[in-house]
Amino acid sequence: MRELQVTAISKAVAELAVKACCQLPQDVYEGFKNAQKSEASPVGRNILEQLVTNADIAARENMPICQDTGVSVIFAELGQDVHITGGAFEDAVNEGVRRGYIDGYLRKSVVAEPLFERKNTKDNTPAVIHTRIVPGDRLRIRMAPKGAGSENKSVLKMLDPADGIDGVRKVVLDTVLAAGSNSCPPMVVGVGIGGTMDMAAICAKRAAARDLAGVNPDPRYAAFEEELLELLNKTGIGPQGLGGNTTVLKVHVEWFPTHIASLPVAVNINCHAARHAEIVL
Ligand code: SF4
Repeated sequence: MRELQVTAISKAVAELAVKACCQLPQDVYEGFKNAQKSEASPVGRNILEQLVTNADIAARENMPICQDTGVSVIFAELGQDVHITGGAFEDAVNEGVRRGYIDGYLRKSVVAEPLFERKNTKDNTPAVIHTRIVPGDRLRIRMAPKGAGSENKSVLKMLDPADGIDGVRKVVLDTVLAAGSNSCPPMVVGVGIGGTMDMAAICAKRAAARDLAGVNPDPRYAAFEEELLELLNKTGIGPQGLGGNTTVLKVHVEWFPTHIASLPVAVNINCHAARHAEIVL
């Protein structure tokens, strides 16, 4: 059993928060650069150039890529041979978020209760934490700060199995059309198919936070991702919604076994600030 102190977890999460908010991941940066070569609209190309410049300035000055530094979404894979000492895991993660957002001068966007008071917690806690227990003695933490502009346009539908691939395609297309410029395109689109209502949403969220270069291990889903990408880029929404053929940089699909009578589909949209950072402890 390997011991891991909560202080190490908090420190790592604080560093991840600043890194994720201020340094656009290299894969997304390269995505902007590549899109400049294929974008037909001069305005679209200009916007992509501005996004590259924005990312360069943010990295150089250690400033946020966007003013909305989001809710801290955490995907943790905790090795079953890790013994966390000195406190509770989720408290340690939240302490890291608190420190990262306060010390890094990142905007605090979380309200303590969603319907009546909506008072800001003033430290961006609590994080939304998804933890899986996995084999091994390591802790992998992936942080994906999520802004509201794109998150608010996400959708969950409980389709009938008879709706099939056409039904899934329609949900994805309708979601992106409804998001339009409000989700600050070019977007990264995460699609979750199967499981239950909750599992489909988690699959979509995980998919939206994946590296752009990742290829779906199932060739049928890889082909579907490519087909959806082509379809969505024909919508004409374009960079920042001002027209063009770069509406989406990448579509990722994750799936899970489901009930014989179910076909849940969730779409989680990530904006051009497709932030993610990861560490293994
Ligand atoms: S959707 Fe993304 S880029 Fe647009 S304001 Fe929100 S975090 Fe920023």
